[in-house]
Amino acid sequence: MTLTALDHPLPQSLATGSVPITVARGDGIGPEIMDAVLHVLSEAGARLDVEEIEIGNRLYERGITAGIDSSAWDSLRRTGLFLKAPITTPQGGGYKSLNVTARKALGLFANVRPCSAYAPFVASHHPGMDVVIVRENEEDTYGGIEHQQTDEVVQCLKLISRPGCERIVRYAFDYARAHGRRKVSCFTKDNIMKLTDGLFHRVFDEIAEEYPEIESEHRIIDIGTALLADDPRRFDVIVTPNLYGDIVSDVAAQLTGSVGLAGSMNIGEQCAMFEAVHGSAPDLAGRNEANPSGLLQAAILMLGHVGQGDVAQRIENAWLTTLEEGVHTPDIADPAHTRTIVGTSEFAHAVVERLGRSPATPPPAGVERHRAVPIAGAKPSEPAVKELVGVDVFVHWRSNGSDIEQLAATLQKAAPASLELAMITNRGVKVYPDGLPETFCTDHWRCRFLESEGRQLYRLAPARLIEGLTLAGLDCIKTENLYTFDGQPGFSRGQGE
Ligand code: NAD
Repeated sequence: MTLTALDHPLPQSLATGSVPITVARGDGIGPEIMDAVLHVLSEAGARLDVEEIEIGNRLYERGITAGIDSSAWDSLRRTGLFLKAPITTPQGGGYKSLNVTARKALGLFANVRPCSAYAPFVASHHPGMDVVIVRENEEDTYGGIEHQQTDEVVQCLKLISRPGCERIVRYAFDYARAHGRRKVSCFTKDNIMKLTDGLFHRVFDEIAEEYPEIESEHRIIDIGTALLADDPRRFDVIVTPNLYGDIVSDVAAQLTGSVGLAGSMNIGEQCAMFEAVHGSAPDLAGRNEANPSGLLQAAILMLGHVGQGDVAQRIENAWLTTLEEGVHTPDIADPAHTRTIVGTSEFAHAVVERLGRSPATPPPAGVERHRAVPIAGAKPSEPAVKELVGVDVFVHWRSNGSDIEQLAATLQKAAPASLELAMITNRGVKVYPDGLPETFCTDHWRCRFLESEGRQLYRLAPARLIEGLTLAGLDCIKTENLYTFDGQPGFSRGQGE
């Protein structure tokens, strides 16, 4: 056993296994629920070597704003497997979200959250619900690339890459194949974001063709989420970009009956992290009342990932039997099903006592999910023929009563002869030419210049354009070069297309 110098002894039987894992007890209820889970893993015969690291509050208190230090990273690199209890993220003060840091630093591109209702074991509005959300975990608006550009306008960059889409979509189909699932649904908003979400949808359609035995469909995220909430049985596996996945996976977990029962896994090529869906619940810390089931579900997913599906199944059956026999923590207690209300550690003992037993009621579908899924890399892409055909210049300009025609005249006069002002938009709405007086405008103007005769621009043209506009007294805050790729425009053409 390798163990960092912490004050909690680990269960001995976990010390002699074969798969090294890194464990963090976290904050709030973290230590209590982790103790409970390690006890169950130990008694169930999980073949694990545990290394413990410290993350979260104690590190934040020492001024380590990332909440994790180099010795912890060393352990994670060594084991490649992380069972993590929730941590408390301090508000403000420049602290970083450890979850976001870990996902990015360890390349955990897939966030997988099985959302199954456990009715009749736990009450649910949607008995029979059995949906797996596969969320892209590294891209989208979560890059944290944000800028204030003018007095009135801030922006956040949404970055979607073809390799990122390929990896997550292929993972979703491989997950479906490995688990005998019938359908993969893709949720995007590509009716509005035609390039970013459009790429995700296009890659989904391409990859779906390689899995003819699995049904595939695309839904716009808003109606898709509404249908999920109305009747989750319509769906099986859902794959979606980061932000939508963040929201949809919480909606789905809540629909099962309790967020407190869900575990999730974050999967990368070198590393995988397993955790409960819920947070550190500071209100319950130290009271031996928290439900350890979410973290136990995460541990069950981990066992499946490392090829110990037999142990995972043993624990899942004992856990279901415990719930079936009405041994419940306070959060899921209800008069109809609960016989005994127990604390965190007593619940773990109750699960251990039932190891080797299976519930009398057939377990709900979805508990058969203990299989490792292969991770395929993205194919290298062929470089396209890329031609510069224009420039979008963003200008900070207060109209102060002057009309947009004046701004347009200044822009055109100051631009090099090869560039023609094609349009001006404000928050994406075209205001020149042919704008409407009713359009509300801010101080942030997107001014589109195109090569006057439709030819390729010389590389210094954008710099010359900025120089001209700046000398004319305009405040240019950013530019985007407009390219075609193999003759196809690589830019949106305006609102409502
Ligand atoms: P939370 O999930 O910690 O708590 C929400 C509610 O659910 C509380 O009433 C809590 O008592 C209850 N609850 C949560 N887990 C429970 C359990 N196992 N058993 C019984 N009841 C449970 O969410 P929050 O209050 O918004 O966040 C608290 C802290 O956790 C914050 O600092 C937040 O940043 C952090 N957080 C961490 C993670 C993580 O580490 N993965 C995830 C979410 C939130």
